[in-house]
Amino acid sequence: MRRCYLLGYPVGHSMSGVMHNAAFRHLDLDVEYSLRGVAPGGLARFIREELTRGDVAGANVTVPHKVAVMGLVDELGKEAEEIGAVNTIVNDGGCLRGHNTDGVGAERALSEAYGSLGGARVVLLGAGGAAMALAHYLSREAESLVILNRDPLKARLLAEKTRGGAEVTWGGLGKIDLGGADILVNSTPVGMHPDTCESPVEPRLLHGGLLVFDLVYNPVKTRLLRDAEAAGARTMSGVPMLVYQGAEAFRLWTGREAPAEVMRKAVLAELEAHR
Ligand code: NAP
Repeated sequence: MRRCYLLGYPVGHSMSGVMHNAAFRHLDLDVEYSLRGVAPGGLARFIREELTRGDVAGANVTVPHKVAVMGLVDELGKEAEEIGAVNTIVNDGGCLRGHNTDGVGAERALSEAYGSLGGARVVLLGAGGAAMALAHYLSREAESLVILNRDPLKARLLAEKTRGGAEVTWGGLGKIDLGGADILVNSTPVGMHPDTCESPVEPRLLHGGLLVFDLVYNPVKTRLLRDAEAAGARTMSGVPMLVYQGAEAFRLWTGREAPAEVMRKAVLAELEAHR
């Protein structure tokens, strides 16, 4: 049997195990995905000693390790290098390669929901690991990108290292103005279970011309998405991005096309079971 891991600290809330194990079973692959809570102090040892073992196909990486892992692998894929964060590691005979599939996942999800981003004006809330991948993609495809974060300095740092053709500006979360925006992306955890009554945006700021994309997937319909629907906006939950970033990781580990629909159903069933 081969193994894949999710490395985070903590990892208790993740849907990745359910999603990937459903995909491995569906394709009759003898691979098991399990969650590993690894404290920052133990990360380097775990990566060098456990991930390089012959029975390990690779790992996903989540908070707080996505940036630290950059310096602990042997090679970096182009996307991971440009984004500045790793969410997937492939063990190729003891050589560890770091990739970032969040950008691919967000791109596939957004292009299904919105089509081409050419000319789109986008507001991105958050400047953490997921926002790094979103900013990388959005700054290449959209016309303008406003990055707003609780800590405005982090929004500024992300805006400064974002190198696409879009006009990129930044600010604090108090500066949300969606008047001229086509797409709002929430990459903060605000509204995530158990704090499901919270939203990062006051309802009066939302309007019918928006597509609102909330990266949060638990619950599937967050307070932000409910407020957006009430304002006449189109909405997308974090589930499509979760599935597509996972499908790309699955392809990197196995060389097989992932059964995305099986993965989506497994995630939705798990979320429904714990509602
Ligand atoms: P992260 O690296 O920890 O970044 C969190 C970001 O949210 C930071 O910008 C942080 O601001 C901000 N934030 C945290 N708590 C906040 C609060 N109470 N009010 C306002 N801002 C707050 O996390 P991440 O990896 O980027 O993940 C962010 C969210 O995206 C999580 O809910 C995660 O589950 C989700 N996610 C979804 C997918 C998907 O495929 N759907 C993929 C990745 C992540 P400061 O900088 O000021 O601390």
